[in-house]
Amino acid sequence: MDLNDTPERAVYRARLRGWLQENARHAPAEAPGLHVADVAGFRAWQRRLAEAGYAGIMWPREYGGQGLGPMEQAIVNAELGAAGLPGVLDMIGVGNLGPTLIAHGTAAQKEQHLRPLLHAEEMWCQLFSEPAAGSDLAAVRTRAARTGDGGWRLDGQKVWTTNAQHAAFGLLLARTDPAVPKHRGLTMFVVPMRAPGVAVRPLRQIGGEAGFNEVFLDGVALGADAVVGEVGAGWSVAMTCLMYERFTLLTAIDQVGVGPDTFLGPLVGTAEVRRPDVLRRLGRLTADLYALRYTAYRALTAVDRGRVPGPEAGLGKITLIDAAMEGLLLQFELLGPESLEGPSGRLMHELQGLRSGGGTHEVLRNTIGERVLGLPAEPRADKDVPFQDLAS
Ligand SMILES: Cc1cc2nc3c(=O)[nH]c(=O)nc-3n(C[C@H](O)[C@H](O)[C@H](O)COP(=O)(O)OP(=O)(O)OC[C@H]3O[C@@H](n4cnc5c(N)ncnc54)[C@H](O)[C@@H]3O)c2cc1C
Repeated sequence: MDLNDTPERAVYRARLRGWLQENARHAPAEAPGLHVADVAGFRAWQRRLAEAGYAGIMWPREYGGQGLGPMEQAIVNAELGAAGLPGVLDMIGVGNLGPTLIAHGTAAQKEQHLRPLLHAEEMWCQLFSEPAAGSDLAAVRTRAARTGDGGWRLDGQKVWTTNAQHAAFGLLLARTDPAVPKHRGLTMFVVPMRAPGVAVRPLRQIGGEAGFNEVFLDGVALGADAVVGEVGAGWSVAMTCLMYERFTLLTAIDQVGVGPDTFLGPLVGTAEVRRPDVLRRLGRLTADLYALRYTAYRALTAVDRGRVPGPEAGLGKITLIDAAMEGLLLQFELLGPESLEGPSGRLMHELQGLRSGGGTHEVLRNTIGERVLGLPAEPRADKDVPFQDLAS
């Protein structure tokens, strides 16, 4: 693959750099992270990006996007990262949920939701995980039952819902038919987060912030028009969403601020950095981070040529998190606990969560074993059993 910009992409990059220089003063002062405090500032920044055409790069033009490819998205992320500027606030909405609505939503849903989502007028959240359905997502128990008027009634609980406290809408996976095997009885819905019966309770994390939540659904009434895709086809809608989640990570690889320099920089000039054991660890870390970057570029090239992102994105996530943790631990060991004050400490808190978010290491390794290495599949005793007959 050729990593140099084509002439068109060089022009695109140069124009973007100019725009970033002119507009950097409008970006929030807070460092970008998984959860931010200055929500209003980040919202305004997302709106500015969207109006300038630097959000929703790959969304079709008819929905307010730019109709460009993954390479342009990667360029935007890389330039934002190089300038030390954040991207969109609603990463889950713009990266995963909007594209899922574009793929499966009705014309009315797209018309109503996509533009406000892209411009941060309405934030979204992903209501998939439950206390007993995380890695085993198809085990969701939140129940959507038909009502006499053709609508639906939702009852259940979601958990780990990022941004639910700010969201106007959520994309929710519910069980609509317990009499069929678990993957087949699911349906996806759009849920207004301020509807009667929706209660959001924050979950406080080790770093003090509460970025994600429990969401309780108690007799929430939805219309027939809340269904996304076909009734009973929620699993394939969820898979589209998770595919976009993997893809978002790939394009963001140069923006996450975890490169060899992040960890080498603070150690330069210390006596310890010359120790053979430290050099060995730094060497391994650097090799992992470069391997990760080029794996992401390879995968991006494949997507640019029309293929869907494969399980290699999961391997990227494992490598990124393990390498970043190793880098932070090395800093901690050599420079003492003060080295983890500020952004490094915040990164360490967030990395702990990211070991689970978007798929745990163990589950991603299972997927890589089965789908990349061709190892035997895990036994799945519940595969053809109606959900209602499974032991809870
Ligand atoms: C920062 C963060 C943000 C999140 N945001 C959202 C969100 O916005 N919306 C949302 O819906 N969810 C969200 N999640 C939830 C996330 O998707 C789940 O945490 C994840 O799917 C794992 O599920 P779980 O936490 O229930 O763990 P479990 O599935 O209960 O796993 C517990 C342990 O068992 C292991 N395990 C489970 N199954 C297997 C297996 N088959 N083989 C080997 N080991 C296994 C796991 O690896 C893990 O170590 C978020 C999570 C985090 C941490």
